[in-house]
Amino acid sequence: MEKFAFERPFIKRLSSGMPSKFGMKTKIEPITVIDDNLVKDLINKYGSPVFVLSEKTIRKTFQGAKRAFTTRYPKVQFAWSYKTNYLDAVCRVFHQEGVWAEVVSGFEYEKAVRNNVSGDHIIFNGPDKSKDDLKKAILNDSPIHIDHFDELYCIIDIAEESDKIPKVAIRVNMDTGIYPQWDRFGFNYENGEAWDALNRIMLSGKLDLIGLHTHIGTFILSSDAYRQAAAKLADLAVGLERKYGHVVKYIDLGGGFASKSNLKGAYLPGTDTAPSFDEYADAITSSLINSQIKPENLPTLILETGRALIDDAGYLLGTVLANKRLADGRRSTILDIGVNILFTSFWYDHSIIPAQPFSEHTEETAIYGPLCMNIDVLREAIDFPPLIKGDHVVINRVGAYNMTQWMQFITMRPNVIIIDGNNKPFIIRNKESVETIISQEKIPPHLQ
Ligand SMILES: *Cc1c(COP(=O)(O)O)cnc(C)c1O
Repeated sequence: MEKFAFERPFIKRLSSGMPSKFGMKTKIEPITVIDDNLVKDLINKYGSPVFVLSEKTIRKTFQGAKRAFTTRYPKVQFAWSYKTNYLDAVCRVFHQEGVWAEVVSGFEYEKAVRNNVSGDHIIFNGPDKSKDDLKKAILNDSPIHIDHFDELYCIIDIAEESDKIPKVAIRVNMDTGIYPQWDRFGFNYENGEAWDALNRIMLSGKLDLIGLHTHIGTFILSSDAYRQAAAKLADLAVGLERKYGHVVKYIDLGGGFASKSNLKGAYLPGTDTAPSFDEYADAITSSLINSQIKPENLPTLILETGRALIDDAGYLLGTVLANKRLADGRRSTILDIGVNILFTSFWYDHSIIPAQPFSEHTEETAIYGPLCMNIDVLREAIDFPPLIKGDHVVINRVGAYNMTQWMQFITMRPNVIIIDGNNKPFIIRNKESVETIISQEKIPPHLQ
């Protein structure tokens, strides 16, 4: 039998892990295996830290989301939000599932093209589309979601010089009871700006208005906000039909569904508060089918769901570097995972879970990363078992926004692995080397 590591006895003041009004906290179990691969084997083979994605979980989550909508509405199309995780392998899993691409920059547009997504299946969003980007998108028949009047005039300008008719939608922002209101993107519904944009598009005679779009925010915990958003877009669609006899092909409700991660400051865990896909689907589809839109004109419902489709599929594996007592006697544990690669730790209280069986003793512990920087804190204070140098940890629900927002800073970004449907791991992004970083640098002659 393996000997337990000695840990000095201590008297513990109960300050966290106390029962809440719902009872005792749930006991955590170690995560030793991900899709049949031992965590310790993955670390030995691919290094520490390492990001791991489960292809099975991605597909299963997507199929669940799709089912929630297609059982309630006749025409549904998902578009993968590239900025949530644009590693090509991840995008291709979604594209294999029949998901279009939703991009918000010229760079992302290029990535979607290289992933063989046909132009008419790349939705082009965002406030920064250069004239060249717009020309390319128009040539490829991509739906362009217009963000502001300057962009609208630019598209009309391009249309005048070309024989292609740009396919456009407008992004609409609106009051859905979610505050602060996201009113910096698109045209406002309540103050009439959205109608102003629609009228200009219709009267220009040069653009093909194919849809209406909104993205009301992110991590929206209220399905009712979507009910209101869908109703307002349906109202615009009905108005267009009345005024111009024009029928839009789709209504795009954007992304923003909450994942099950724990938001900082939330009283209850994300697993208890995030609405299910069924709840979101109920709100959106009932709003559309109960609107005044004629049944024969019912638009395709497009969804640009990001974090809720991928968060659960991502894991970050790491190793304990050291333990320390802080000046006030509190325990701290230093991991090789910094906030530079776990950007979402600024918003989420991530669960940090030991990757081997652990002692029942727990102590309030601050969990730090390896960066020589005071803000490199993964958790200020959690009830944590005493791990020792070399032990491994798993941080789950990290699939969204980390592999796109990460920074190299004083270290290099680690390997990213996907485990396929047969539980076989593949590297999908190589870890960076000193070479990767300095190959971008140049030394002027006088410093040679
Ligand atoms: C970021 C973004 C999404 C995805 O948002 P999630 O909150 O991750 O679901 C969808 N549409 C647009 C326009 C976005 O900017």
